[in-house]
Amino acid sequence: MAQIIIRNLRKEFGSFTAVQGSSFTIEDGEFFMLLGPSGCGKTTTLRMIAGLELPTSGEILIDGEDVSQRPASQRDIAMVFQMFALYPHMNVRKNISYPLVSQGVPKTEVRDRVAEVARILRIEHLLESPVGGLSGGDRQRVALGRAIVRRPKAFMMDEPLGALDAEFREIMSEELRGLHDRMRATTVYVTHDQLEAMQMGDKIVVMNHGVVEQFGTPQQIYDHPATLFVADFIGSPSMNFLRFDGAVKRGASSVSLSGLDVETPEILDETAPTKLVLGVRPEHVILSDAAPYRGRVLATEYLGTSQIITIEAAHGTLKARAPSGQIAHTGETVGLTFTAPKLALFNAETGRAFR
Ligand code: ATP
Repeated sequence: MAQIIIRNLRKEFGSFTAVQGSSFTIEDGEFFMLLGPSGCGKTTTLRMIAGLELPTSGEILIDGEDVSQRPASQRDIAMVFQMFALYPHMNVRKNISYPLVSQGVPKTEVRDRVAEVARILRIEHLLESPVGGLSGGDRQRVALGRAIVRRPKAFMMDEPLGALDAEFREIMSEELRGLHDRMRATTVYVTHDQLEAMQMGDKIVVMNHGVVEQFGTPQQIYDHPATLFVADFIGSPSMNFLRFDGAVKRGASSVSLSGLDVETPEILDETAPTKLVLGVRPEHVILSDAAPYRGRVLATEYLGTSQIITIEAAHGTLKARAPSGQIAHTGETVGLTFTAPKLALFNAETGRAFR
């Protein structure tokens, strides 16, 4: 398996720059997510790693070797597509064997490797079945089997679960993750679904407009978003943002505006920007009767174990995630506090978290 290093990777299509100088490292055996909204350059990045697209500049190192300008056939990477094209006239065994047979691998080895893959994917009982009659999930497993049997250095997956309905998607994502835990194969996975990225990924790269906004573990990205974009994109409902324009006192450990005093996680020294955006996740907005900062309940949304309460306050509309037993009636006034160590502070002008 393989470590993949991406350095200053750039891709231009004519005058349009789809990827603007990305750098990150995919460690050997990681399940690695490329995450971002439509058109941000995820697929282009994946295709450059696989060799289906050559970079305009920058480097791709696989196990220390610069493969940036090599064709796909010389990179030993398997691409798993969303629309799995199986050979309809062949049975499962022949479909999975195909890449090995076409490479001229001896028959006994083909048999052993197909048996191993069928065991990993738990489809031994389907080996002699025609693919035409298989369920969607089993077709997906056969397609994965065809990629796995080659023993490539890494797997590239572009929204492999994109076409599935919600329930089946959940089953297959657990299965893919379980498969990865058994095989520990370096896997790069494209998705625009932040929840899928958080649930499945060891590491995530968040992209926007061709730029890497942040690279880290799901927890680092959730707890310490590097930019306002990441803070807004990750988490559901999104982080709340409160703007403090020019209201920051040097040397203070709180910001104060229109009757709202918020303790900051650290002292704001002379390097702190004067225009700040305070980011608070809904689970860190606490309803508290005695709190002097007050807002009016606009709506409540019951989610079972918790509820989302929408509150109109002096700094705009906020969302709080509260225990489902907490009583909050639409129209009533409630006090609000924020959990200090969990707040995020952003420079309002650059959109970047400071420190
Ligand atoms: P999606 O989830 O919608 O596929 P993405 O993040 O994967 O989005 P890319 O497919 O990498 O985005 O595309 C990034 C940008 O580059 C888009 O604006 C797209 O139109 C453009 N692009 C991609 N391939 C080409 C191409 N061959 N020629 C011109 N522009 C392209």
